[in-house]
Amino acid sequence: MLNQYQIDSELAKFKLWYKHNYPLCIFCGHRVKGGQLAHLIRRSFSRELQAVKLNTGLAHPDCHELFDDHPDQAVYLPRIVEVLYIIWTLDEPYFNMIADNFEELADVMQLFPEVRQQDKLDHHGELLTLQYLHPLRYNIRLIKTRNK
Ligand SMILES: [Zn+2]
Repeated sequence: MLNQYQIDSELAKFKLWYKHNYPLCIFCGHRVKGGQLAHLIRRSFSRELQAVKLNTGLAHPDCHELFDDHPDQAVYLPRIVEVLYIIWTLDEPYFNMIADNFEELADVMQLFPEVRQQDKLDHHGELLTLQYLHPLRYNIRLIKTRNK
């Protein structure tokens, strides 16, 4: 098992890798300058998952805080469906623990087993979009716009 020093050194490598190869916020998809390395599954939950690249990504401090502390608002983060999908693939018991916080996305989350991921994901940037899983949200917006 990795010690804390080894974990921190892995995380420094991930951060550098994301900066060079995928400098976008894991939560909103917009460019990150500086930023933080965020964990999707909380560090306190699992030591092993701390050093799994798929569990990490660059993030804006504001987006990171929304995700960690305000799930009622985090449901509107543009990449929230992918973030939850990654959590589901990494650790289903943890996913089940937090799923209730994202009740609004229950219909979407229950479609996760139908998502066909051809290759094993290495980092979150490989998941382009799972937005197609919840067309309803967009239909509602369209209808509202049309009725104006
Ligand atoms: Zn962001």
